[in-house]
Amino acid sequence: MIEFRGVTKRFPDGTVAVDALDLTVADGGITVFVGPSGCGKTTSLRMINRMVEPTGGTIEIDGADIMAGDAAELRRGIGYVIQQAGLFPHRTILDNIATVPMLLGWSKAKARTRAGELMEIVGLAPEMAKRYPNQLSGGQQQRVGVARALAADPPILLMDEPFSAVDPVVRENLQDELLRLQSELGKTIVFVTHDIDEAVKLGDKVAVFRTGGILAQYDEPGHLLARPADEFVDGFVGRDRGYRGLGFLPAEGLPVGDLATVSLGASPEQVRDAARDGWTLVVDEAKRPLGWVQVNGSASADDLVAGGSLYDTEADSLRGALDSALSSPSGFGVAVDGA
Ligand code: ADP
Ligand code: MG
Repeated sequence: MIEFRGVTKRFPDGTVAVDALDLTVADGGITVFVGPSGCGKTTSLRMINRMVEPTGGTIEIDGADIMAGDAAELRRGIGYVIQQAGLFPHRTILDNIATVPMLLGWSKAKARTRAGELMEIVGLAPEMAKRYPNQLSGGQQQRVGVARALAADPPILLMDEPFSAVDPVVRENLQDELLRLQSELGKTIVFVTHDIDEAVKLGDKVAVFRTGGILAQYDEPGHLLARPADEFVDGFVGRDRGYRGLGFLPAEGLPVGDLATVSLGASPEQVRDAARDGWTLVVDEAKRPLGWVQVNGSASADDLVAGGSLYDTEADSLRGALDSALSSPSGFGVAVDGA
């Protein structure tokens, strides 16, 4: 658990990059910091591994003040991935990754074996091992960056816009791989992005920052979309309406009162049409919300389930719920303005 308590960063020139931040990053999930450029995301992230020192407040990891101990030791438990993978140009991919365990005192042979395993974990083909960084695509380089950050097996991984420089299709692959990797390895990941789609897709919880380093809302993605805390969040979350490929957002905890305010009676045809390009709220027989679904060009529940877009819930119960939402005479499924 990473706990920010009243954390402020005022740079010597007077810029307040982060203003009295209170926030708890839970263990073993993906927490996303999102917001417009210059709102203090990177500064907040870098305070976790002491690349930036707070000028006020405290940060604790598992109850220990990070400023109390040794910075080098702290960083051994925290992987860090940035937009430019920052690979050593004259070393092979395998050795780029093996360097980290070797710095930790592993033998070359053991470190290389570990590097090979890490390549597999991040989805790099074995034949990449002998290549040099300039022989890899941007997406592949980012995979190497992630493998390197994982090499010392840190419980925490900080990622600062790691996929922002790769093209959209590759970015989606990398996002999917990160979700898989997180669920397999159980790391605590803090992920920075300026892209609300990416935030909503990846985040178990999402912190929306506004200019001045102020935390505007810290919530589950479904709640950000359904219940933005203020006009700023509403505007930021809604800026790119017409999401693509976000899949399923569980609506766990969404009170039925909220459901009533967003629900409209709709015919099965209307629901199906809305479901083709917007978000649909899926409810069960008792009209309890199960989640938000976006159907990409298809109104078939089977397509969604088969395509792996549905997660965090039981596929069968969702298939049934989506089918009934699509076909029930009451048409109790709702698309809300593409968001
Ligand atoms: P983000 O990552 O959200 O784009 P940053 O955390 O990089 O934002 O920056 C937040 C604010 O702090 C910006 O106004 C930025 O110009 C300022 N800032 C960042 N680093 C420094 C620095 N070393 N000195 C002065 N101001 C800085
Ligand atoms: Mg930044």
